[in-house]
Formats: sequence, C-alpha cells, structure tokens
Amino acid sequence: YTPNQSSLIDLYEKAAELFSHVLLNTKLGENALSYLKQRGLSEKEIKDFNIGFAAPEQDLLLSFFKEHKIDDKTMAESGLFIETSEHELRDRFFNRIIFPIKDSNGKIVAFSGRSLVKDPNHPKYLNSPETSIFNKGKVLYNFFQARSEIIQSKTVILYEGFMDVIAAHRANVKNGIATMGTSLTEDHINAINRVADRVIICFDGDEPGQRAIARAIELFRNDSNLQISVVFIPDNLDPDEFVKQRGVESFQSLMKQTGESSTSFLLKYDRMGLNLANENDQLEYLKKALARIGGLKDALEQDLYLNQLSDEFGIDKGDLKDQLRESVADRL
Ligand code: ATP
Ligand code: MN
Ligand code: MN
Ligand code: MN
Repeated sequence: YTPNQSSLIDLYEKAAELFSHVLLNTKLGENALSYLKQRGLSEKEIKDFNIGFAAPEQDLLLSFFKEHKIDDKTMAESGLFIETSEHELRDRFFNRIIFPIKDSNGKIVAFSGRSLVKDPNHPKYLNSPETSIFNKGKVLYNFFQARSEIIQSKTVILYEGFMDVIAAHRANVKNGIATMGTSLTEDHINAINRVADRVIICFDGDEPGQRAIARAIELFRNDSNLQISVVFIPDNLDPDEFVKQRGVESFQSLMKQTGESSTSFLLKYDRMGLNLANENDQLEYLKKALARIGGLKDALEQDLYLNQLSDEFGIDKGDLKDQLRESVADRL
C-alpha cells in the first residue's frame, strides 16, 4: 500500500469502530440492532462480520474524525462524505446498517449500507465509491474471511448478497462469498480460479436470480476451468430467507445435494415459460436444448444429455445426433 492508501485504511478502520460502537452500545443504534436480531443475527455474528450502524444524524462520522484530527484530504478521498452545495462535508451514510468490505488482505477498503426505510428514493444498498484501494470489479465480499475454508474444500459458494453469506455462515457453510450488486467480472473469476477447483452458484430463486445464474455460468465457462454447479433455492426465496424460513438443517441438506450441473440448470432455464404439452413449444425447446448440447466440449457429456432428451420426448437418439451435427454445422 502507498502511504496514501494506508491513511485511507486507517480511516476506514476507525469508521468501522465507530459504526460498530453506535450499533452495539448506544441508544442511537437500538432500532438497527433489533432489526438485525429480528433478521436472525446474533451479537457474535454482528461482531464477526464487523457490522455497524450509521445513525440518522448526518454529521456523526464527520465530527468524530474532526475530533481525531484526521486530515481533510484523506477524509475527502475516503468517499465516506458528500459535499453540500455550500461546500460542507456531510456523512454519506446515515440511517443505514453498515457492512465493511475487506480486500484480499483483510483490510477494510469500502462500506455498503443497507437502508432501514423502504423508500424508492433511497436505494436498498448504497456502496461507498471507488477509490485508489477499492475497485468493485475486483473485490469479493467475505473472500478474505472464507479463504481457508475455500482452500480446504477447494470450493467457493457464490451468493448475491451480504445477508446470504452471513445466513449460510450461521448454517456452518463458511466458504461463501458475494459480489456486491455488480455482475461478475473476469477479475472476480480469476481470483476464484486461483484458490478453488469448483464453484457453486447459489443465487436468489427469483426471476432476476435465475437470469443471473445463466449469465454467471456463461462467464465461468468462458474465463475459467472451474467445475460449475448450481444450488437452486426454491419458492422464489433467497438463501437468507430460506435459512430463516426453513431452518439451518434444511439449508445444509440443500447444500449437501452437491447441486445440479450447469447444463442441467440451463436446460431447465430454457424451458421456463414454455408449455411442453404444446408441440410448438416442444420444438422450440428441443432446438434450444440441442444448441446447448452442441456447445458442450465433452462428448460424454453431450451423450448424457442427448439420452435424457431422447427418453423424455421419445425421439430416437440417432435422429437427435444427426440434428445436433446439422445445427453445429450451421453455426460453423
Ligand atoms: P436484503 O436481504 O437485505 O433485503 P438482498 O441481499 O436480498 O437484501 P437483493 O435485492 O437480492 O438484496 O440484492 C443482492 C445484492 O445486490 C445485495 O446484497 C447488494 O449487495 C446488492 N444490491 C442490491 N440492491 C442494490 C443497490 N440498489 N445498489 C447497489 N447494490 C445493490
Ligand atoms: Mn436478488
Ligand atoms: Mn436477495
Ligand atoms: Mn435477502
């Protein structure tokens, strides 16, 4: 780290301490603390994940730093303040639960704040802006803390959100990480590829989540040699909601089923919204499925899914193979 970056890291460390103190030990944090407890977090988890609270007042962090004689330049660069039209600084985060974000060395380099109010004018999550030490496309939430579990299991579990990582941790599934509202980048994938052999995608079970799974599979296939599987969370739930509603044991058994292969997920994804009792829809699905299967590099894998299609639709496997060859030839 440059001296400049080290000053930022010191500042973030102090900010995290203040946010944590406000949440755990002050009247200002009472509502936020009961919100978190009601979502299932224990004080130990709140401490383990360094969670804090930015109070509704918009000058708490500012006055704290002024008291501690932090220099103006570092404060301005930190991204934790916004400038009013009168050129005064104000806290960027207020009335938000604060999740510190650590880099791969375990240093806090950014924060994300979850709004306590449901209001379309306030985004649910707000991230601190990019700085010389925070690049959203490179940082993965919980990567540092999960590192030893990841190396041991050779497996990374990828979630959408902070609360999913934390809920899984409660269920003793500790090799989880998350992107922070950004889509997966090549840098993220490279970082995962360096420490693991396998990635399990465990996104939200809602529509956007399913689309994101399909997209993530494509990216992992293109940019890594990771074995990819999908654990699909049923009933439109996200992993955190699933743990809350069904309990940690149900989550554990879901995770133990090692997930489905990426191809099997994609084939299911392709048939969503289609009515397979209808012949036109059947044909549409068969075409999509053959294109998927044709794109597989492994001949054995191709064979496996051709067998499945042949069984399901009662179509001769030889015919499917001919069709596959034609559709591959078409694309060449
Ligand atoms: P919660 O459980 O607290 O309601 P969530 O994690 O289920 O939140 P999602 O809508 O599923 O919320 O979003 C997944 C993740 O995407 C969030 O955890 C957050 O990191 C990121 N995210 C969501 N909304 C935003 C936003 N408006 N700006 C930036 N990042 C966001
Ligand atoms: Mn989501
Ligand atoms: Mn979610
Ligand atoms: Mn959620």
